[in-house]
This record gives sequence, structure tokens and C-alpha cells, in this order.
Amino acid sequence: SHVFINGQWCQPEEAVVSVFDRGFLFADGVYEVVPFYTGYPLLFDDHYERLERSLAQVGIDNPYQREEWLSICQTLAESTPEANGIVYIQVTRGAEYPRNHLPEGELTPTVMATASPWVPPVETPDPVHVEPFEDIRWLRCDIKSISLLGNIMLKQEAKKRGAFEPLLHRNGRVTEGASCNYFMVKDGCLYTPPNDELILGGITREWILELAESAGIEVKETAFSLDELMQADECFLSSSTREVQPVGTIGSTTINNGSIGPITQQLAELFRNRRPHIVQE
Ligand code: PLP
Repeated sequence: SHVFINGQWCQPEEAVVSVFDRGFLFADGVYEVVPFYTGYPLLFDDHYERLERSLAQVGIDNPYQREEWLSICQTLAESTPEANGIVYIQVTRGAEYPRNHLPEGELTPTVMATASPWVPPVETPDPVHVEPFEDIRWLRCDIKSISLLGNIMLKQEAKKRGAFEPLLHRNGRVTEGASCNYFMVKDGCLYTPPNDELILGGITREWILELAESAGIEVKETAFSLDELMQADECFLSSSTREVQPVGTIGSTTINNGSIGPITQQLAELFRNRRPHIVQE
């Protein structure tokens, strides 16, 4: 598989960036992950728009137009031997010596993109166990920043407790996971936390909300507490790589007897029917 780096294509072992790159020194950059199903991206425009927004929020110029990004992603998707893959895009502010918090000169952003094999979730994924944690991250989680230390620390803690993902909350108010969004179903209504600065506006989250609305399911983007979530009829999480993933237990609380609930099932089916068709490997 190839690596795209600053306008060039090369082998992974040949791809190099400066040790003075601000991505390396400060995690001063943003990223995007685009899933490809048998060579077709899902919701590319939404991923592109989020990348554009992340760049604008941190004040890094977008180095390429939409069509150029799409062609980079397609070349990467086609160069992987596996049918399904994810494209990872990273843009940092660039490199400068000596190290300064504020760059002194005009920097050229460093652009890197790679593809890696990915197996889309099976048709009926087993409900997973998640563990609640206080959300220790910063207050601009809406930016898809490469600075993920908080997320990684939380993932490590969750793993220690045998959980698939942490379930993050600020003072009891549910935010999201370390790399996914959360939903709950209560009395037939689908709830997810609002798309504010405390969560990453997931492309999958937005797509699920659209699917739910078009299926006539009542939807509320409203804050809810961990306690309310524990009383939910159904719970699931979402991301580009996990699609719709049912949650069976939250800490010591079992949701829907640990089985996938009817609305979660319906949304998972809608998602599968509307994504590009895949070749199972
Ligand atoms: N929230 C966080 C913190 C994430 O890192 C991700 C994706 O990795 C998501 C939510 C889900 O976003 P998407 O559905 O666009 O993959």
C-alpha cells in the first residue's frame, strides 16, 4: 500500500517527516478517517466538510480542494489489496526550527494520507460492555484534533476493566466515547447528546439521525445524564468503523437484557442497506 505525503506517493518505509514537524512536537494538526466499501467511500462529502471545518477552527489552510482530496482517497482505496479499507488523512501546521509554541514564519502544512485494511462489522454484532468515566478531555472536542492523549488514557482505563469503549460524561452528563458517539432509546424515542463543543459531530451519528427520521422514529438531540442512560430501553454507539454497535451493559447495569433492541436493530439494518454493498473477505 502507498503513502501520500506532501504531494508525493511512496512506500510506507520511505515516507518521512521532519522531527520539527508541529504534529510531532505539539500534536498541532487535525485528521479525518473515511471508510471505503469495495472501493466506494461512504459519505465522502461529509468527511471532507468536517476536515475543512477542523482546519478552519485551528487556523491551518486547507491545502487541497475537494476533488483533489477525493482523488487522493480513491487512489489509496484502490491501492489496497483488500476490498474494504479506511483512509486516514492528517494535516499538521508544518515544520519549523527552532521549536516555538507560536510559529515565527509562514509554514507549509504537512499532509499525509494512508489506507489500511478494514473489515466492516458483521451483520448482527454482539452487544458490548462499556464503562463510564469522567470526561477528562479538553473543551473543544468538536475539532478532530490529532491530540488524542485524553482519549488514549480513557481507552486504556476502559480496556483494563474489560470494556469495549469508555462511556464519557461531564459531571454526570453523557458526552460520547473515546472514538464514537452514543445513543439511547427511551419510550420509542431516539436520544443522542447535542452536537456542541463537547463532542465530535460524528458523520455516522448524523447519518443515523437522518435514517431514523426518514423511518418515522422520533429523534431528540438533547443532553441526558448517566442515570437516565442506565434506565434506557436500548443503547448503542456509532462510528465510521463500528457503524451501529449495540451496548449490552454499562458498568454493572444491563440494558435490554443484554440483547440488541428493536430500534437499534432497525437502524443497523437501515445502515447496512444504505451503505455501499460490500464483498465479505
Ligand atoms: N467521537 C470521537 C471522539 C471520535 O474519535 C469518533 C471517530 O473516530 C467519533 C465520535 C465518531 O465519528 P464518525 O462517525 O465520523 O466516525
